[in-house]
Amino acid sequence: MPDPCVAGIDIGGTKIALAVADLEGRIIEQKRFPARTSERGPHAIIEEALSEIERMLGSAGSRLDAVGIGCGGPLDRARGLILSPPNLPGWDEFPVVQIVEERLGVPALLDNDANAAALGEHRHGAGRGYRHLVYITQSTGIGGGVIVRGELVHGVCDGAGEVGHMTVLPDGPVCGCGGRGCLEALCSGTGIARRARERLAAGASSALSSLSSEEVTARAVAEAARAGDTLASEVWDEMIHYLAVGVGNLFNALAPEAIVIGGGVSEAGEQLFAPLRERVRERARMLPPEKINILQASLGGDSALHGAVILAQAARARRAEPTS
Ligand SMILES: [Zn+2]
Repeated sequence: MPDPCVAGIDIGGTKIALAVADLEGRIIEQKRFPARTSERGPHAIIEEALSEIERMLGSAGSRLDAVGIGCGGPLDRARGLILSPPNLPGWDEFPVVQIVEERLGVPALLDNDANAAALGEHRHGAGRGYRHLVYITQSTGIGGGVIVRGELVHGVCDGAGEVGHMTVLPDGPVCGCGGRGCLEALCSGTGIARRARERLAAGASSALSSLSSEEVTARAVAEAARAGDTLASEVWDEMIHYLAVGVGNLFNALAPEAIVIGGGVSEAGEQLFAPLRERVRERARMLPPEKINILQASLGGDSALHGAVILAQAARARRAEPTS
């Protein structure tokens, strides 16, 4: 293992992913373990993560230089606090940066996990080589990160990039944020499953009718749609319609060189991307069609972990230039 190293931590609602990397950001060793956030407090979970990083370093005798942390928002990046994220009950005003810095004696940097994933895809994944990029994670929820001239845009209160809460259907279904008709309410994995369950409850017949309510997931909808099921195809098609509204708005507003989509729903591949590209080209008419560049993320579930390592590199660079 190279010496010194940096480490990345990706904190999710159900799992923690860790990586130790060289100073160029190449991951040398990585690990993930279940977080069981509902059973254990944040202190115990972070302590387990830090002990594991020490074990990875110790077996190679390497020194640690910095840590980057990606976590679901909301966050206070400047103060290094995790602020009551909906997927991490009990993590209220949790001073993760201070705890990591004091425990390991190295600088740490925090950003939200969608921004981290945007950094990861930009540096190492599908977004390599682009200076202007939007990343969207289409998973249980929908998050995003905006990169302009190679840098993340954070905006006021670090609120930029929340593409999941763009309105795509005025007065549409209620979203977790309290608004209505957000992209997340209509196109997240949770939203897709809910739309399918509503239609089944209304009595529509479908291959999905034989499943229990919990088994009607976005993945089950995608599979049934591929097999030609009418209800599932309608739900999938409706999701792509609203996703095209949101993605088209982003092309019109920002004209990025590419929009990269990752997260569990995007694993449907061309079943999602082929119709999406076609419909966004119909909508985003201020750009030539060949500039509507929509790509599938290429780092799988590791986009945010790669991003956490990039945050560690930034923490290291910041320490080297304390006045900047
Ligand atoms: Zn919302």
